Parts: sequence; structure tokens; C-alpha cells
Amino acid sequence: MIPESELPDDLPLLAAVEAAYPDELTRACEALARSLPVLIECEKGLVGFFYAALRTRLRRRQIRCNYIDGRAPQEPGQMPMALVPTMIAQLREAVRGGTHDEDDARRVMVLPHLDLLTTSSGSLTSEAREVVALLYENPNILWLGFRDPSFNLPKVIANLFQHRIGIIGVARERLAHLVTQRDARKLGRGGLDIYKLYKRVSGVHAVRLRQLLGSLEGEDYPDDPSPVWAQIRQATLEGDLSVPELSLDDDIGGYAEVKSKIKDDILEIIARKEALEDPKQIALIEGLIPRGMIFWGPPGTGKTLFAKAIASSLGAAVQIVNGPELKSRWVGESEENLRRIFIQARQSAPSLIVFDELDSFAAQRGTYTGSGVEHSMVNQLLTEMDGFRSNEMVFVIGTTNFVESLDAALLRPGRFEFQLHIPYPKADDREAILKIYDQRLGLHMSEAALTHAVRQTGHPIEGSDAHTGRWSGDHIQALCRALARQRLRSARTDETTITDVERALTANLDLPTLTPAEELVVATHECGHAIVALHTEHSPAIDRISIRGDLTGALGFVRYADPAHKYVVTHDQLVDSITTLFGGREAELELLDQLTIGSAHDLERATVLAKALIETFGMRLDPDAGHDARDAQVALEVRDFGGGHQELSERTLESLDASIRSLLDRERTRARQIIREHRDELVALRDLLLEKKVIDAKTLSEQVPDAKHPPETPALE
Ligand code: ADP
Ligand code: MG
Ligand code: ZN
Repeated sequence: MIPESELPDDLPLLAAVEAAYPDELTRACEALARSLPVLIECEKGLVGFFYAALRTRLRRRQIRCNYIDGRAPQEPGQMPMALVPTMIAQLREAVRGGTHDEDDARRVMVLPHLDLLTTSSGSLTSEAREVVALLYENPNILWLGFRDPSFNLPKVIANLFQHRIGIIGVARERLAHLVTQRDARKLGRGGLDIYKLYKRVSGVHAVRLRQLLGSLEGEDYPDDPSPVWAQIRQATLEGDLSVPELSLDDDIGGYAEVKSKIKDDILEIIARKEALEDPKQIALIEGLIPRGMIFWGPPGTGKTLFAKAIASSLGAAVQIVNGPELKSRWVGESEENLRRIFIQARQSAPSLIVFDELDSFAAQRGTYTGSGVEHSMVNQLLTEMDGFRSNEMVFVIGTTNFVESLDAALLRPGRFEFQLHIPYPKADDREAILKIYDQRLGLHMSEAALTHAVRQTGHPIEGSDAHTGRWSGDHIQALCRALARQRLRSARTDETTITDVERALTANLDLPTLTPAEELVVATHECGHAIVALHTEHSPAIDRISIRGDLTGALGFVRYADPAHKYVVTHDQLVDSITTLFGGREAELELLDQLTIGSAHDLERATVLAKALIETFGMRLDPDAGHDARDAQVALEVRDFGGGHQELSERTLESLDASIRSLLDRERTRARQIIREHRDELVALRDLLLEKKVIDAKTLSEQVPDAKHPPETPALE
């Protein structure tokens, strides 16, 4: 706390700028005195004042300035010229016109709007080309340029300036010089809490800060100063940024472990810091707060949601940046965009940047494809993160499906050092999520309906499309919304029952309707999976076959019962799943003599399983296949300890590949045999499916008497 009496009484803007940036002013002045061109990067609003303060210092050293701002003294009767052409004319005059004063004073040519002169999207305009040529034409001219960081500046111009000074906000040590006694009175009793203020204005430059504090309304020494603080926060939000309002505990269901990790390792440390008074201790804690965090896990599991909840409890503004978009939409300008994102974040600190799908541009080196955009983006990201002042409240969260897929350079201490796994929701998580949306959407789920929904959302869905088939929080929310729509349509206010849940699980309103020809293909495909599953010993029992589609967007699917032992997967079970995956494709070939793209995902998954079986789990194949089990062991170790594939010999790799191929061939042949052998059963089942759209376990066991039965499945309505 700084006593009110120690604060300045009155503070003109120019004095504020001098008080805020003594170091920057000295550096700029020294560099110019040594004849080094200087580029100042700051917001437009600061330029005039910073220049005025610098000019005073330069004068003391007998250095004079020419200010080239495009505002020509207007002759009477003459049309005013546009800003940029006038600036260029002035620039030309300065470079070529031999009107240099004969006095000995050195001169600095000041370009307050360097960015306006050369702003371009991609290639340079002809005006900009002329500017570049002029700037390089006379090496005796000493330049002082200003550019706003939110404008582009061509490299060729930036390179002209050996000395660059970036100004974002105000350093915490200077802040006390920028708050007047009047301001402090508006902010509460007992003097000025500089840490509290800094947290909210660290990115605001001196001029804007003065304007902001000067505009604070309200009485002096308010009993409740929170409205004034809210006013400050509102004023420091850049552009369309906002602070989300989301509670970690109330708005996110389940995930107790994730929540307590966030609280213990981030929120509490920051809270503790804010309670401290001793600058040394504060600095110590600041060093411990993770700036960069990785949230990893499958899509829809609430990674963005957690990020927003963190922002909410820190009062931080959020920018959500989509990685693939950042990379693809502005090829060549991606670094520039990254830089701008960080500037905006720093200017509106406290703030948080979320890079969704960070791996889209920050994947493991070596797996980069193409142009090298990724390299420069990663480097830019690291530069920006290394450039924070440690007391700035700017956080970066990257989300990705697999943390291993990220460039290792990003994971070092001081960068994305905090990693948090957010997996698919477990049963109690699903229950908590269901309860949130049950309450929010007024579903009044009965106890039994809730239990049923928790159970059904635990089933993996084996679809013929690109879904992994597991329920995320996002899917659960979609289920609840479907329930809410059902209730709305039928004007229901009573309980939501098991039957309602069942209907919502299978009726996706946004489903494409299939033509009869398409239905035939989908039904054949799904029954192919089912028949192979029925006739392979280690496949799980079938719970449901459907061509009505489902919430996850699959056209058709075969859903299996929960296996009795979830965590032990045997070699035989894996092999049978591979066989079953081929069933859809083989059925299409057998009955329709055609192949559709619906099988592509099955083949991909079969390959993944085969690779896992041989490389990762090191499971031995028939030795006749020419495969050495020890190779697999090597692969296992190499994989697990992060060495990548490089350390395996060519021969070993070839042998592993051959094993995978022969395993896939063998299982495809087995699937074909099963399909041929049970062709009649397949046709009958398919026709039944076409008629009923959904076949549950009970109907299936009537149709195929020797089918395995899943334990205790609830009957359909
Ligand atoms: P991710 O970033 O992991 O892909 P999101 O955070 O975007 O997932 O989640 C998508 C939506 O799913 C959220 O907006 C929210 O509605 C819902 N959701 C996901 N997980 C949960 C959860 N644990 N509690 C409540 N809603 C959730
Ligand atoms: Mg997301
Ligand atoms: Zn399939």
C-alpha cells in the first residue's frame, strides 16, 4: 500500500510519459546520439507524447528533429492533400532536397507513421516501394521511426533500424508515479494497492492509463470499490475481448482430479501471491507460476471450458485461437498474426490465450510437412513467450489430443511446463455433467433415467465413420439438448424417463436421411461387422445394431456390450477386433459387389490395432511369418522412451512392416471366410435391419439363436 500523500498531486500527460518511460527515453536518446537509427514500437496514442519527451532530451544534446507527419502547412486556396502522399513528398524533400541547414546541429528525421507508409498485405505497393528506396537512399540520414505493433511492417524497413524499443504498458516499478492522489481516492481507502492495480493495467500505456484513471467515476473513498475496479477492467479489454464468466466447480461437471490440480498448482499460487506484501516473496512466487499450460485429451472433453474457467477466476480476458486456421488462412503472415495475438493479450492483461489444436503447427519436429511455416511459427511462439515480463499476467494454454505429438522445445521449463490430461469422462463425471444439463435445461430426469443415461453413455459406439465412438462431455450435452427439444415438442413438464433417454440416444434430429440405396449399403456393412463379431470367439456380445444413426453422427453402427474385464485386453481379443473391422467391407463385397468409402475408417482402425499389437504391445506373431519377437520388444522400448523410430534398423523396420501386413491379410481372409460361410444369416439379418432400423440384443438372439447375450440390457420401449 502506498500512502495517498506520496502520490503526485497533478500529472500532465507529458510528465506522465516521462515518469513512465525514463529507461526507454534514455536508450532511444543514447542510440540516436551514437547515430544509430531507432524504431519505437508502441501504440499510436503514445507516439506524439513519447516523441515530445524525446525531443526535449535530444535538444539538450544539440540534436534537432524533422517531424514528417504529412500535415503540410496549408496555403490559402490550395486543396489539402491526402496524408500519405504528403508524407511521401516530405520524405522525398528530406532525402533529396539539399536544404540542410548549414548549422552544425545534427538532424533526426522522424517518421511517426512508418507503418502507414508501408502497410501492405503481402506485396509492396508502388508507394511503399518508393518509401523503401528513399529510406535507403541517403545513408547519412538518421531515422527515428514509430510503428504501431498492430500494423504490419515489411522486413526490409524493419531491418533499417539497428535499434528497436518495444513499449507495451508500463513496468510495475513505474506505476506509482502515474497515479494521482485523486485517482487513489476513487480506488478505495488506505492508500494505493499497486499490485492490485498493476494486475489490471499492466498492458496499458501511460497516456491511455492517465485517461483511464482520469475518467474514473464515483465518490472518494468508497466503501465498496468493486464497481470502480470493474470499470478499469472493462476499459482495458482490447477489441472484442471479454472476461468469461464460468465457474470451475458449478459449470464443469466431474473431473475432480483435474479441478484440484488446477486449483493447487495455479489458482492458489496466484491467490497467495496476491495476498503477499513483501516484493521479494512476490517475485519468488511469480517465478513459480506456470505461464504456459498444455491441456491434452480427446475432443469435446472440456479443454476449452477449463481454460475459460481459469480465465474467469483470474478475471482474465480470453482469446481463443484456432491452430489450423492460424496456420492455413494466412500462410506467410502466420508469424505476424501470432505476434499480434500476443500484443493484444499483453495490452489487455490479465489475459489468457488458448491455442486450440496447438499441434496443428507445433508438432514434433521431423513430422513437419511442407513449407516450414511451422518452424517459424514455433519460433515466434517461443520468442513471444520468452518476452513476457515475469510479473505480467499473461497465460497461454495449448490444447492437443496427444501431448507426445508436440514439439519438445515447447515443453521445456518456462514454456508450456504445466501439462494436464483431460480424458473421456468416467461414470461419475458423466453423471455430474448430466446433472448440470438436467438442471440447466429443466429435464427433471428420474433417478432411473439418469442411471440409464450414465450407463448408455459408457458404451463405446462402433461406427462406420470417423468417430472414436466414446462419449465426451460435448456429446452428453448434445444428448441433453435432444431431450430438451423432445420435451419442448410434446410440451412435457413431467419427469424424463428411461424411454425418453432411449429415444434421444437414437434419434438425431440433424441426421441426413438416407436414400433406400444408401440404407442398403449401410445395413449390409453394419451386419457384416455383426456377423463376424458373432462368429469370432473373443468378440464381445452385441448390444445393438442400428442404421438410424446416432448423436455422434454415425450413419449406422454396431454397439457392443461392456466387456466384463475392461482393462485386460488379450491378444486374441485384439485379433478378433481386427477381423470384425474387416467384416463391413467384406459384406459389401460379397452381397453388393462394390466398395464404399464407409470402409476407409475401418481399415484405418484395423491398421492402428495391428500396429499396436505388433509394435507397441510386442505381441508375437506366428514365427513362420518371418518376424522376430525381439524386434517387437525393441520397438516397445523405443516407443515408450520417446526415441522415435529412427533408432531401429532398416531391417527391423521392414520386418515389423511385413508382420503388420501379413497380420492384416490373414484377418481379412478370415473375415471373408466367415461372411461366405454365413451368407444366408447375413442376408436375413440385413433385411431385418432394413425393416426395423434398430435391432436390440433381444431381437438379435431370436434371429441368431447361438449369439452371445449381453448381460442385463434394458428392453426397448
Ligand atoms: P474441447 O476443447 O476439449 O474440445 P470443449 O471445452 O470445447 O471441448 O467442450 C465442448 C462443450 O462440451 C462445452 O462447451 C460444454 O458445453 C460441453 N462439456 C464438455 N465437458 C464438459 C463438462 N465436464 N461439464 C460440462 N460441460 C461440458
Ligand atoms: Mg475446444
Ligand atoms: Zn464399418
